[in-house]
Amino acid sequence: MTRVVLSIGSNLGDRLARLQSVVDGLGEAVVAVSPVYETDPWGRVEQAPFLNAALIAEDPAYDGQGWLRRAQEFERAAGRVRGERWGPRTLDVDLIACYGDTELVVREPNLTLPHPLAHLRAFVMVPWLAIEPDARLTVAEGPRRVAQLLAELEPADRAAVRPSGLTLELKGRHS
Ligand code: ATP
Ligand code: CA
Ligand code: CA
Repeated sequence: MTRVVLSIGSNLGDRLARLQSVVDGLGEAVVAVSPVYETDPWGRVEQAPFLNAALIAEDPAYDGQGWLRRAQEFERAAGRVRGERWGPRTLDVDLIACYGDTELVVREPNLTLPHPLAHLRAFVMVPWLAIEPDARLTVAEGPRRVAQLLAELEPADRAAVRPSGLTLELKGRHS
């Protein structure tokens, strides 16, 4: 069994529908979905705001590379065109952390786990904490509480992540 924390974002086209496509595509594997936040762009600021959310999914059949392939299939299905790094995109699906019996540490050319920038991004940590308040993330110094990592960011970084009032639907489920 592996469990993955995914960060999903969109700032092009029907942003909410793009995020919903990931929840729908993962189907029964989804165990938790955060509210949707609207966020100012990170890295390159001269672009439209994003919608961002976090998901937790479990599936015995997927390792880190398997989740990455699945993430990239969702991006392709959303018509993502690979442009500039951190540029506008219809859908971005990042693997933040992945757990088997313990947290997986992966350093492969196409996959780094945990995600090396997650601890610097309020748009990743705020949604994640909404579904897992006690979340922990391994950074250079070792395992840290995500709530603490978020508290260490600049107030302006946290303020760039705002509740949108939008939600994603877990279809056919009562939760
Ligand atoms: P960032 O990773 O800083 O958020 P980005 O999402 O804009 O940047 P992409 O263009 O979506 O970057 O991805 C570039 C490559 O990153 C992908 O082709 C993928 O192989 C690789 N990658 C490495 N680690 C991860 C990870 N944890 N999650 C998703 N992709 C990853
Ligand atoms: Ca990303
Ligand atoms: Ca990405």
